[in-house]
Amino acid sequence: MAINESENKPQNRISYVYGPVTSWRSGTSLGIDPIGAISTCSFNCSYCQLGHIQNVTRERKIYVKTELIIEDLEKAYQGDQVEKVDFTKLDVITFAGSGEPTLALNLGEMIKAIKTWLKAKNLKAVPVSILTNATTLEDEEVRKDLQEADLISLKLDASDELSLKSINQAATGLSLEGIIKGIKLLKSEIDFSHLSAENESENTVHSKLKSEKNGIIQQSPNLKPELQLQIMFLPKFAENPEHIKRLAELITEIEIYKIQINTPTRAKPKSGKEYWIETRGNHYNSSPLKPQENETLDNQTESSKEKYLELPVISKEQAFKIEDDLTSLIGKIRKGEIISPKAHKRTKNEDYEQSHETTDTVKLQIINVYKR
Ligand code: SF4
Repeated sequence: MAINESENKPQNRISYVYGPVTSWRSGTSLGIDPIGAISTCSFNCSYCQLGHIQNVTRERKIYVKTELIIEDLEKAYQGDQVEKVDFTKLDVITFAGSGEPTLALNLGEMIKAIKTWLKAKNLKAVPVSILTNATTLEDEEVRKDLQEADLISLKLDASDELSLKSINQAATGLSLEGIIKGIKLLKSEIDFSHLSAENESENTVHSKLKSEKNGIIQQSPNLKPELQLQIMFLPKFAENPEHIKRLAELITEIEIYKIQINTPTRAKPKSGKEYWIETRGNHYNSSPLKPQENETLDNQTESSKEKYLELPVISKEQAFKIEDDLTSLIGKIRKGEIISPKAHKRTKNEDYEQSHETTDTVKLQIINVYKR
């Protein structure tokens, strides 16, 4: 297996553990970066907070050795050369960082090693979350690796091949068709938790730990992993009713009913070639590129405006309208009041297993970026 040797030079290397950062979605999150110093992703999203992706690729390989992740976790725990992290305060450990985490060939091995390390330290079983753009899910090995995670967040911004090109600028060979197929395969192989209309409390590792935040609990095999969708809305697409309708069709086709409505609230670095590692997580305010203390996007100085691009976001009204429209459309599609011919055609022709449970009773949950 090929290893990017330049990533693993012992001296002066970057830390592959960053944060904790405050995530509006998951609380206090410790970041794990399985990619490293060169931003690498199968997408090059127009809004990416890492800036222009340096290495747009679909190649899976070992970008960072597992032992280096554990070495950096130990340093964070001890406060050795980095700020000490209080692991009892963590809500989640999140794989994200410098690009697409599922491109890391050792992803499953890293998740297992982190869980073993937490146990050895007698720390609470902090759930491990993966933020993925879902482009690699057709690969059986990726799906196997994801079985180790407690929470999987899938990105689904595009409603057709054209918007995949425009919003996500996907690597050559990727298609929305393939992404949808991969998501269905993942769903057919992992028994995810569902929030049903009858059962308002989720039986997931994440929700259980959130309710027992400071207690040390052992992970039970009966707790199911959680699957959710993140949709990034840019004004141009949010204003297009056809885009919203097609998204509603795709959501009902893949049957994932926990959805986050998002919009780019983090600035995008303008630099074309250089990658500023400080942009991992929510680090805009601590970036050394930012010239003044306590500067935020709202009170940027002229010099930092030259370095960051503030992206157009959807308004609060737009976000709530999208939420209402998706709720109504998904409800109608599920009741059969609107037929989606494209979804039916795909369902018939493709060779994949149906998911474990019927999702007729699964409750739709929409988490809106403006309801933080
Ligand atoms: S998928 Fe994530 S890391 Fe990759 S380009 Fe898009 S926003 Fe950036």
